[in-house]
Amino acid sequence: MNPDPSLIPISKLHLPEIDLWLDPTRGKPLAVISHAHSDHVASHGRAICSVATSALLRARYGQKGEHVVLEFGEAYEVDGYRIELQPAGHILGSAMVHVTRLLDGATLLYTGDFKLRSSPTCEAPRVKPADLLIMETTFGLPRYVFPSYSAIQEQVVRWCRAALENGQVPILQGYSLGKAQEILQLLQGGGFKILVHETVGRICAVYESQGVVFPEYGILKERETQGHVLVIPPNASSPLGSQFVAAMISGWGMDPRARYRSRTEEVFPLSDHADYPDLVKLVEMVRPRVTYTTHGFAAEFARDLRERGWTAWTLEGRDQLDLGLAFEQSS
Ligand SMILES: [Zn+2]
Repeated sequence: MNPDPSLIPISKLHLPEIDLWLDPTRGKPLAVISHAHSDHVASHGRAICSVATSALLRARYGQKGEHVVLEFGEAYEVDGYRIELQPAGHILGSAMVHVTRLLDGATLLYTGDFKLRSSPTCEAPRVKPADLLIMETTFGLPRYVFPSYSAIQEQVVRWCRAALENGQVPILQGYSLGKAQEILQLLQGGGFKILVHETVGRICAVYESQGVVFPEYGILKERETQGHVLVIPPNASSPLGSQFVAAMISGWGMDPRARYRSRTEEVFPLSDHADYPDLVKLVEMVRPRVTYTTHGFAAEFARDLRERGWTAWTLEGRDQLDLGLAFEQSS
């Protein structure tokens, strides 16, 4: 049977036929938690998630509720729908959600946060074709083309070495879940003595329990910091003094004013999200009949997709009216 994606009724990130929510930020009876970043997390009656995401939810948020823990590629059926998680390549455990309506084979793919670049800290992304695609478009403008991983690694290592040779202590800032672990891996093989903030260390321990191997590091406490590279979250109070020099690791480093906004000396553009070419590549891999975009430059990217011949709309803002559908706001 020829699947018609428009037959899968979906309001914003909600499939009413099986009352399944995708990444709602308030508790629901049944929801998928695509990954363990806080803006995707709530306590649900039943939370469908990957093995590593479950471990992170328990360790980071103390979740005690029921998790339906799925291996990547494992099928879970709910009232005539098959739900499957595939690696999204964003952070450890992050998943794309693939839903098939068994009645007619119509399929939906929700990317959650994703990137296509492979990373030493998380599972390699796997993209499945679908009739209906809901994708995040954080960096959905053509100017966001990230340098290669190896180029960024070389720059970060060189910057840290220069600081140490100047007698300074280099501080690398990145979010405690995901980015900080990527930073640790960037330092792999650099021969650095590394100290991480304790919130970073707690997450690293979960990563290690899932098989990720980091270069040797210690926990930043009252220790002597001289001669070390520090890895801390941007919101943590960093040590002050002229002997310290800080850099942020963020995809927003592509913006000319990023350094000023981050209040650091340097911003290295390594992201855990897809850049513009990879957003386009994802659509070409999924080959959807209809795409909905969300987060970041969603309207701009949907317009670009339409210019490339795809049927695409944003879930944010005015296009909801263009579609004439009564979307329910996720809450
Ligand atoms: Zn995320």
